[in-house]
Amino acid sequence: MSLKGLSSAVRKLDVMRFVKALIFAVTVMTLAGLSSLSAAQAKAPINAVATVGMVADAASAIGGDHVKVEALMGTGIDPHSYRQTRSDVVKMGRADAIFANGLFLEAQMEDLLLKLQKRKPVFFIGETIESEKLEGSTAYTGRYDPHVWMSPSLWQGAVASVTDAFISMDPENEQDYRDNAKAYLAEIQELADYGAKILKTVPKDRRVLVTAHDAFTYLGRDFDLDVVGIQGISTNSEAGLQRIEMLVDLLVDRKVTAVFVESSVSERNVRALVEGAAAKGHAVDVGAELFSDAMGQSNTYEGTYIGMIDHNMTSIARALGGEAPLRGMQGKLGAGH
Ligand SMILES: [Zn+2]
Repeated sequence: MSLKGLSSAVRKLDVMRFVKALIFAVTVMTLAGLSSLSAAQAKAPINAVATVGMVADAASAIGGDHVKVEALMGTGIDPHSYRQTRSDVVKMGRADAIFANGLFLEAQMEDLLLKLQKRKPVFFIGETIESEKLEGSTAYTGRYDPHVWMSPSLWQGAVASVTDAFISMDPENEQDYRDNAKAYLAEIQELADYGAKILKTVPKDRRVLVTAHDAFTYLGRDFDLDVVGIQGISTNSEAGLQRIEMLVDLLVDRKVTAVFVESSVSERNVRALVEGAAAKGHAVDVGAELFSDAMGQSNTYEGTYIGMIDHNMTSIARALGGEAPLRGMQGKLGAGH
């Protein structure tokens, strides 16, 4: 064989190899394409947006693998005054479903949510609770108190409606949603039982919860604590001073050992309470900061619904002279308890 003949034979062999490789590659790519297409058709998760973290926590627990949930408001955000950003509008526009607490919690977003409801599923989960179980709002006449997550038993009702929402959108996976909901509701029941157990140990005459914000009415109702709000009192006015005096008397008479404040309350009012009580020979501490309308940092225990309420109930029980484990219901609470 000449040199030329050899090289052409090699080339022929190369071409055949190349063609074979090409056929193989095209087959693999086609198969991969087909399989990813069918996987996408069967398993595209529902793209859900939630307003507050507590609602997102429920949607994500019940949706499981079938749902992707994003919360618009993170830790430290006040939902009463929050107004949607431009990127929130984009997210809600793209979402398959939107979950809100409702009951006018998201007061500044309500109009937009109602408008969106004409185009896509928007669920106000707090509004599925029977109205006989709700209290009136202290902020808006004619409306209900929206802080329903503060009562684990009330919240169970709201959470159950998330299950129906997902089943209506994705009936094929009904059983998964029901199983997830059952597990999540059982966890909330455990939380309710824990709260009842530890808050029962607070001495009878000290069962007063003095807080900054009117968010704790349902918690007080469930666990037999009198709730007194100190928001919006001005020490500059006669009425404000009288109210401070009345609160000091209450703290002294009821032997209340702690008040709970948030950053929204002026230091001055808190100091007036603590000093007023001290002048009457009664020591009052400033208790741990409670989570009212937002959960803790994401990726922490307090950044979950269970952790948030565990923190509140454990902090209240301990500060008011009751008995509760330092690290809470599951031993997961962070330092500072
Ligand atoms: Zn609130």
